[in-house]
Amino acid sequence: MRVNKSMLARSLHKLFTQIFAPKLQKLAVYQLGNPALREIAHPIADVGDREIQNLIEKMLVTLNESNGVGLAAPQIGRSLQLVIIASHPNQRYPHAPQMEATAMINPKIISHSVETEKAWEGCLSVPMIRGLVPRYREIEVEYCDRHGDQQNARLTDFVARIFQHEYDHLEGKVFLDRVETSLDLVTELEYQKLLKS
Ligand SMILES: [Zn+2]
Repeated sequence: MRVNKSMLARSLHKLFTQIFAPKLQKLAVYQLGNPALREIAHPIADVGDREIQNLIEKMLVTLNESNGVGLAAPQIGRSLQLVIIASHPNQRYPHAPQMEATAMINPKIISHSVETEKAWEGCLSVPMIRGLVPRYREIEVEYCDRHGDQQNARLTDFVARIFQHEYDHLEGKVFLDRVETSLDLVTELEYQKLLKS
């Protein structure tokens, strides 16, 4: 059998880099009670900064491995105006629309519908609790994307809800602050029963 040496070298190099390349680790998500979750986040001056780009990568890994639909920088202890939104159907949100994970820097709500809607929310920083939270059904937002380009978008329903939830984190708020009554709070176990009923 003839062995192509350059092919073999390439395969070995690929294998070597796959084994030894530094894998981005999932970051610890701060939990309710940590003062970092109550701070007002600071705007990001330079999106191209290597540290900011690394932070976005780490947040994407953390969100993906946590199977979450959104994450804000204060949740990993960074007081910066940066959120990731990544709606996708999963066990917690079976009817969520599929979208590519999107990093939004210095996001703002420009306008919103009068109409609000109550629906279930959870949070990686508030494990095992679900709440019925009123949110605007439609919002117009602007943000800077990870390439430094200013974006404008109209968001509705579940994606609008994720945005408002993550935006709250930048203002030191969690979804528990938004429920109308403590009767609208349930445990994860009871939430799963509600989903099946
Ligand atoms: Zn949250």
